[in-house]
Amino acid sequence: ENADAPPYAARLNLPQREAVLTTEGPVLMLAGAGTGKTAALTARLAHLVATRRAWPSEILCVTFTNKAAREMRERVGHLIGDAVEGMPWLGTFHSICARMLRRHAELVGLQSNYTIIDTDDQLRLLKALIREAEIDEKRWPPRQLAGLIDRWKNRGLNPDDLDEVENETYANGQGQRMYRVYQDRLKGLNACDFGDLLLHMLNIFRQHRDVLEQYQARFKYVLVDEYQDTNAVQYLWLRLLAQERKNICVVGDDDQSIYSWRGAEVANILRFEKDFPGAKVVRLEQNYRSTPQILAAASGLIASNSQRLGKTLWTELPQGQKVRVIGVWDAPEEARRVGEEIERIEREGASLEQVAILVRAQYQTREFEDRFIQIGMNYRIIGGFRFYERAEIRDALAYLRVIAQPQDDLAFERIYNQPKRGLGAKTLEKMHQHARRREMPLAAAALELADSDELPARARNTIGDLMRLFYNWREMAEAVTPSDLLRAVLEESGYDDMLKADRSAESAGRADNLVELARAMEEYETLGDFLEHVSLVMDNDASDEEEKVTIMTMHAAKGLEFDNVFLPGWEEGVFPSQRSLDEGGLASLEEERRLAYVAITRARRRCTILHAANRRIFGQWNSSIPSRFIDELPDEHVESETTMTGGRSLWQANWTESEDPFAHLSESRPERSSARGPGWQRALATGYETKQKRVPEPGRSAASFAAKPRTDIATV
Ligand code: ATP
Ligand code: MG
Repeated sequence: ENADAPPYAARLNLPQREAVLTTEGPVLMLAGAGTGKTAALTARLAHLVATRRAWPSEILCVTFTNKAAREMRERVGHLIGDAVEGMPWLGTFHSICARMLRRHAELVGLQSNYTIIDTDDQLRLLKALIREAEIDEKRWPPRQLAGLIDRWKNRGLNPDDLDEVENETYANGQGQRMYRVYQDRLKGLNACDFGDLLLHMLNIFRQHRDVLEQYQARFKYVLVDEYQDTNAVQYLWLRLLAQERKNICVVGDDDQSIYSWRGAEVANILRFEKDFPGAKVVRLEQNYRSTPQILAAASGLIASNSQRLGKTLWTELPQGQKVRVIGVWDAPEEARRVGEEIERIEREGASLEQVAILVRAQYQTREFEDRFIQIGMNYRIIGGFRFYERAEIRDALAYLRVIAQPQDDLAFERIYNQPKRGLGAKTLEKMHQHARRREMPLAAAALELADSDELPARARNTIGDLMRLFYNWREMAEAVTPSDLLRAVLEESGYDDMLKADRSAESAGRADNLVELARAMEEYETLGDFLEHVSLVMDNDASDEEEKVTIMTMHAAKGLEFDNVFLPGWEEGVFPSQRSLDEGGLASLEEERRLAYVAITRARRRCTILHAANRRIFGQWNSSIPSRFIDELPDEHVESETTMTGGRSLWQANWTESEDPFAHLSESRPERSSARGPGWQRALATGYETKQKRVPEPGRSAASFAAKPRTDIATV
């Protein structure tokens, strides 16, 4: 039937083709995961160009990531040959707006060579402004203000647009003033931040009709992928651009809206038909990605959400395997198990490129990285740094390196003023001079300077205090375990306080990473052993040509697909995240569930979910409850196993209170209020813990410990 269809439409089904061929007027493609939305959008782009409806430069096409833009550009190239001599307006909202703003910068008081400042610069600037305004920065930290400003910008609000309530959210009614001062200062620096890219362009469109009309005339067609995750400022910007011709095609899935924490509004989808009356709504129901088992499991899960449009999905693919749910003892065993599974499917002929491990939180990658290094499995981390390369981990390691090796100048330089102690570049210069003159390491020079009059008294005292700390830590290193030493360092150096004072979302992630670092160190007897391990890990960079397993967050995996997907850490407090549980609202839980839906639907052939019975937190075992999302998966599409019983999962067994095998454990312990499910589950959740500290044997890895029989838990 498709014999005469152009190559880009040959493979498409009827509704997809409708979305491609309905070139004029607004089109809303609303459909579930894997139904070929992005494929149809790409074909539409090819069609518009191939039929000469528009030049590539007359089409605006928005993707959610730069990677997605690159892929789409490639695919269009495939579909219509090299006729695409670049698509200048294919990219993310940010990249497109940055390009536009270069041309019109003077309209918002910038020059066209303006710089885009990163978060670090932004914080430094805000900090200076907060000081100038004599606001108590401990109570009202720069990060908090940065977060607010970001939120305002995401909503398209300029300083003048803030109402009393918003104004009150910072420093008792100084929100608006600080926002205004910040914007003015940025202009003075000929700079803007990420949020400004969109906000400035929105302001320009609103205030300069001629500019808006110029773009309205240029863009004959507007295409937007992942529309469910647009925020208000992006929505307003798009609406202005498309208002004239109304040739706008947006595609999305309300069930995959996972960025509301960044201001995304799923309501934008629902509003589309109102904004563009007569919009053609295309629904796609055939899924081409996942097996029926995976699809049914994901659909069953998302059905627990109350706030959704609802849709049916079907597939013609062969039945495939059920979704596997594997219960393991602890995190090292989880990593070991995943490694084994990957080796197994590799032997069956799978490519590592088709394997992904999707985590809820960044810190979860550490256990897998360590394990994969150990067994020599290549991996890449997408959308983030490898664990040991993250800033806070490098800081902590730098402290440890100076303790272990006082002549490690690089490490000392990294932390002598981190957290900030008021030691500036001048002090560093003095230390360097002194070190050169006396041919000694930097730290030794610092020690001598603390006793000389070459530095002002304040700097001398600060350095003296720091050197005393190092002295104590070095003593301590002889007496305590490496992880206990780390805890002391983080606390006494002020690093913990620095993170605590910082109320941004990322700072919680940073603190989690440091907890994870302490956990990693528990495997090692001496600081030297651990540091050696880290240098080996850091060194392991597989070349680009080699196949690699992908490790990334669920958020970053949106729109992607892999034959084999592993989803570790499905435990209450990990996923759904503790934060979403603490907030307690239905909305935040439903967003977590959508994230689970996104995660499962990345899988084409096999999806494996894991949960550990125990997570170790600061040297103590804490038992965890399997994620409620596991319970919500429809039984008939799930195959459970646990290394604890060897049979059907304990977690899913339908035991009554009276059969509770752990009843004796719960008697004397208070119950955790968040615990759900039968009594034995609650018993597990009350956190009985082994007091015995594990004594690591030399050369013995985390993974080999995990092989210990599970009876440990029952004999406590
Ligand atoms: P998501 O919601 O996850 O972004 P999506 O709806 O954008 O998914 P695509 O990524 O476009 O889905 O498509 C999923 C898979 O189905 C891809 O491998 C794609 O090549 C394939 N596909 C799409 N349409 C068809 C079709 N008509 N026939 C065969 N395969 C198709
Ligand atoms: Mg897509």
